Amino acid sequence: MADNQPIVNRFHKPKSKIEIPYRAAERAATRYVEDECGCWISTYSVASHGYAQVGWQTEGIRNVVTAHRAAWVYFSNEQIPDGYTIDHLCNVRRCVNPAHLRCITNFENARRTNGRDWEMGECANGHPNSEMIWEGSRYRCGPCKRESQRRYREKRREKSTP
Ligand SMILES: [Zn+2]
Ligand SMILES: [Zn+2]
Repeated sequence: MADNQPIVNRFHKPKSKIEIPYRAAERAATRYVEDECGCWISTYSVASHGYAQVGWQTEGIRNVVTAHRAAWVYFSNEQIPDGYTIDHLCNVRRCVNPAHLRCITNFENARRTNGRDWEMGECANGHPNSEMIWEGSRYRCGPCKRESQRRYREKRREKSTP
């Protein structure tokens, strides 16, 4: 199982679970007020997590997504691949300006959120993101994973030798 998981590259992206319809994406991308920093502040109401939200109905079911995700779908003309997140370069959660948004993997987003700072497109140890492995719900760096498995095996060997 572990050996045949897809490697992340531009030709393979896991498919998105939520399809954001064009009409909702368009609303999210066009209803904003520009502030003095160039941020496009969404006029949609802000939820407790600090992000503006846009909703729509499909077959009687109400769906809600954050406005910046919907705006990204509108401007890039594609759905957000599963396992990816839309990151704010400006750190303004209500901003829907496409110049301030970028699509990154959850893996990259998590390390940013943890306050660590290293090159985008690489892991903490400098391995390129093309080496990342999709584990069904998240990305992991392949070389780092192999390295940690090797260290784990070494530790066990040390323990078992008298
Ligand atoms: Zn912004
Ligand atoms: Zn790595």
